[in-house]
Amino acid sequence: MIEEDFEVCIKVIIVGNGAVGKSSMIQRYCKGFFTKNYKKTIGVDFLEKEIEIEEDLFRLMLWDTAGQEEYDAITKSYYRGAQACIIVFSTVDSDSFEAVPIWNQKVIDEVGHVNTVLVLNKMDLIRGALVTELDADNLAKKMNMKLFKTSVKNNENVNDIFTYLAQSHMQFS
Ligand code: GDP
Repeated sequence: MIEEDFEVCIKVIIVGNGAVGKSSMIQRYCKGFFTKNYKKTIGVDFLEKEIEIEEDLFRLMLWDTAGQEEYDAITKSYYRGAQACIIVFSTVDSDSFEAVPIWNQKVIDEVGHVNTVLVLNKMDLIRGALVTELDADNLAKKMNMKLFKTSVKNNENVNDIFTYLAQSHMQFS
């Protein structure tokens, strides 16, 4: 008998206020580098990454809103068909923290309930930060969602997010 490898494709959208590190996160994960001056492209922007977890193959399609968080009409097309979602906020931006439930609702309105995680980014700036780890922990508890604390800059805990989304995909779908 011939066994064929089959790959599970997952469309992942990364949402959250501007400048929290969404593009940097996708770039870091897919290309392995961090740059301070990542130039935004206008229009559809997504990167792919293949991962293998315990002999299961996954292809993650990571969609970035390309700095057009404000333009509803454009972002609608990014949401279409999403199976997983990462909501990013940052230690140094309290507005981004306040906006998390709004982003969550927006995703629910567009695509229904999908596998969603929260990410507190810029942990390298946590000293004296506006958003504390406790704030984030409490929010995650309230929203009943898994929380990752990352520094895309220092490449801390970034891969874990994507491994988790792939691993939990089966249970969720
Ligand atoms: P986006 O608008 O959410 O896509 O955010 P960007 O990826 O464009 O990042 C906004 C700024 O934050 C850029 O200058 C990044 O270099 C910076 N940045 C992203 N992640 C981190 C991080 O973990 N730590 C620090 N200190 N800066 C970060």
